[in-house]
Amino acid sequence: MGYGMNYISILGSTGSVGINSLSVISSLIKNFTIYGISCNKNILLLEKQIISYKPKIAVITDKKSYETFIKEKGKIFHGTNIIFGDEGLELISSKDIVSTVIAAIVGFSCINPVISAIHENKVILIANKEILVSAGDIIISELNKSNATILPIDSEHNALLQVILSSGLEYKINDKEYYKNKIKKLILTASGGPFYDYKTKDLKSISPKDAVQHPTWSMGKKISVDSATMMNKGLEIIEAKILFNLELDNIRAIVHRQSKVHALVEFFDGTVIAHMSKPDMKIPISYALTYPERIYEYNSSDYDYSDLSFEKLSLEQFPCYRLSRNVAKLGKNSGLILNAANEISVEYFLKEEILFTDIPRIIEDVLEGSEFIAHSDIKSVLENDIEIRKNTKKIIKQKYS
Ligand code: MG
Repeated sequence: MGYGMNYISILGSTGSVGINSLSVISSLIKNFTIYGISCNKNILLLEKQIISYKPKIAVITDKKSYETFIKEKGKIFHGTNIIFGDEGLELISSKDIVSTVIAAIVGFSCINPVISAIHENKVILIANKEILVSAGDIIISELNKSNATILPIDSEHNALLQVILSSGLEYKINDKEYYKNKIKKLILTASGGPFYDYKTKDLKSISPKDAVQHPTWSMGKKISVDSATMMNKGLEIIEAKILFNLELDNIRAIVHRQSKVHALVEFFDGTVIAHMSKPDMKIPISYALTYPERIYEYNSSDYDYSDLSFEKLSLEQFPCYRLSRNVAKLGKNSGLILNAANEISVEYFLKEEILFTDIPRIIEDVLEGSEFIAHSDIKSVLENDIEIRKNTKKIIKQKYS
């Protein structure tokens, strides 16, 4: 990336990936200037970030929070322009002086700004797995038509990329064939989540508060629930398939409770290379920011790499993982359906309107009642997404509440 000034925008700067990104960027301040940041509702933190990082633009996507903010602080605050909604996200992700965009908004809603960033040939650091799962084919085909670069910062995929590039292979994320005859297997690790040792009958009484306690990583609510159901690993399998273009049979996940090994790559000569690090998002974020170099200096005392264990991930124990693998095989819009049904189910679980164990059942019901078609443009993807969300709410109302 060199030492010229890079302007960077962060979609979702107040979430856990956003906060970690800003912390990494502060120590790479010679290389980066913040152009845009965004939040949904967390205007208290946004205000602090504006004061500390002095971005040109700060976007607030929740209408009420935007109105509150400009009423109290004005449309220009400490020299930063405050802009509302999707239009603002589009602006900070496509502005010509911006070289790098971090997509750290959770959920499908950040699809449009990411597509704009691709059209404007940005380097896009993707933390968001929902858009890859729902619209991966379209994202890759748009990527092929542009000079944009996608770098995953999801820890497992970032680890895969690091191993692949460290093994002398090239960055070929948008290539359908390149990795197929060079890599035998991609293996993602799963921590197992907070309920790994629970019996099936105990799962029914899990509350949202229990589900957001992750044993090894600290992260947002939605992804914590996804980790508990193992949907997170399922989405990551689909994500890996889209990024690295291997057959599903050659991509798997194993349970590794300690979260010290993040991914393993098996080559045809029998060698398996693993990526290890402390479970800290600053590590994958810094690699993607300074790729292909390693400039960031991580501050940490010695880390203990003893007591590593690996176990098989059971399809019976984790129905969300099983459903995701079926979807990864099926392709077409099944990823979109899985993701939309999951986002709605998690939302209802967090509101305590459905049980933890209802989540996979609802998703399965929605998948069974849906038609599988391949979308060729983003408009039909967006329409389909809205339709599936409506349908999921209807099924929840009829059968689960
Ligand atoms: Mg991950």
